[in-house]
Amino acid sequence: MNDLSRNYINGQWVDWSGDTLDVHEAGTGEVIARVPSSGREEMEQAIAAADRAFDSWSESTLEQRIKVLEQLHAGLKERSGEIAETICREVGMPIKLATAIQAGMPATMTKSYLKLLPDFPFTEQSGNSEVQYAPVGVVGCITPWNYPLHQVILKIVPAIAAGCTVVLKPSEIAPQSAYILAEILDGTDLPKGVFNLVCGLGQTVGDTLIKHPDVRMVSFTGSTRTGSLIAHAAADDFKRIALEMGGKSASVVLPDADLGAAVKGTVNNCLLNSGQTCTALTRLLVPADQHDEACELAAAAVAKMTPGNPLEETTRLGPLASEQQRDRVFDYIRLGIEEGATLVAGGPEAPDGCDQGYFVKATVFGNVKPDSRIAQEEIFGPVLSIIPYQDEADAIRIANGTEYGLSGAVWSADQDKAKKVASKLRTGQVTVNGGAFNPQAPFGGFGHSGIGREFGKWGLEEFLEVRSLQL
Ligand code: NAD
Repeated sequence: MNDLSRNYINGQWVDWSGDTLDVHEAGTGEVIARVPSSGREEMEQAIAAADRAFDSWSESTLEQRIKVLEQLHAGLKERSGEIAETICREVGMPIKLATAIQAGMPATMTKSYLKLLPDFPFTEQSGNSEVQYAPVGVVGCITPWNYPLHQVILKIVPAIAAGCTVVLKPSEIAPQSAYILAEILDGTDLPKGVFNLVCGLGQTVGDTLIKHPDVRMVSFTGSTRTGSLIAHAAADDFKRIALEMGGKSASVVLPDADLGAAVKGTVNNCLLNSGQTCTALTRLLVPADQHDEACELAAAAVAKMTPGNPLEETTRLGPLASEQQRDRVFDYIRLGIEEGATLVAGGPEAPDGCDQGYFVKATVFGNVKPDSRIAQEEIFGPVLSIIPYQDEADAIRIANGTEYGLSGAVWSADQDKAKKVASKLRTGQVTVNGGAFNPQAPFGGFGHSGIGREFGKWGLEEFLEVRSLQL
């Protein structure tokens, strides 16, 4: 059992002797770690430390910031095996994928900022004005459990690069990688107080962070429900917010597309991390006359997703991160059946031989009505809804017919036609014919999926205020 009864405040580990929160292993349900259920006082101490550190860090040189990020990058590489196993156990992502994604992405994203920073224009000329980009101030970072370290890195790396100081409140469900991160940063040249970590519940320490007057920005990834609370709290003293929230993304298969490739690509995307991915393509839109074939192809594709112990190399489908999340997904599968959708594969139970832990069968529904709840609400589990459409206009209307707008896909034999449809989707990113993930491309959502962008220069600009000097 990993005892992590401490917070990292003002460059020091501060022991915690109050209530703790249990962290469970997704594949077995066993308690594997304990973290503090910190109080508002600890959060206030961390905010005060970040506030004290701001004046000096905001004036640090670019070389100083780059050096710290290089040290961070080296630490992430060095501890990648430990990061992968920790997140595999907490979240349930199979180890092979966790190594590439949960441990690999944080290093990749840090590296992408190291490449970008030397040429980033922190000052530029516009006519007779010098435009300066200044750090926002103390930033509160609040993150979820599904990609726990990646989501933290996307906030703290650009924030530190911008000259901001940060207080991180990680997810209480998957907090251990944030401790590894704090240990790595503790070994760098980052001055004390620039990075602080306080663990605890959203309604206590999270609430203090989003409402504190000395916090000038909240960068949040998580549910739309919590994002809305943050937006309301920020309105009171005009804090800046960056919100990355839920999704219900559509994969639109045009009539001339390679149906087999489109269904396979969509199923793989939908089931990544057992569906616990905000960008998951959870709605597969197919021409009505190809619906039955698409259902058969999807059933065959999910049959190949071997469920099992996420620590085993051959496992392709792991469990969900928590009991609560598993039960929520079971409820949605039952709801889909009640709503009259056709159950093509899976169902509201664990796969054979997976009685312990938080497993759910990979599930496919056919003949899903676009306005049914399973087609409208984020399920966050391994559940795909196949929706037949009549023509292109109908497909675009269905794709845009939810309150979300995070991701999407278009498949067609004609790339220009696919791009034309993609540009009509009200969503922050669209994959055309399975185009590769790009860590330099802006990431974020339309509508209820978010405000602001992460990745690359767009992610850095979120943490910068603009000042113009008329000369
Ligand atoms: P959540 O909103 O319940 O929790 C996220 C974080 O917010 C946690 O750290 C939690 O403790 C904190 N929090 C909860 N209540 C709070 C409050 N009242 N005040 C301050 N902080 C509070 O979300 P979750 O269940 O951990 O994560 C799943 C959700 O995250 C899904 O909806 C998913 O789509 C979304 N997500 C979005 C993205 C994206 O980039 N758009 C990425 C990953 C996950």
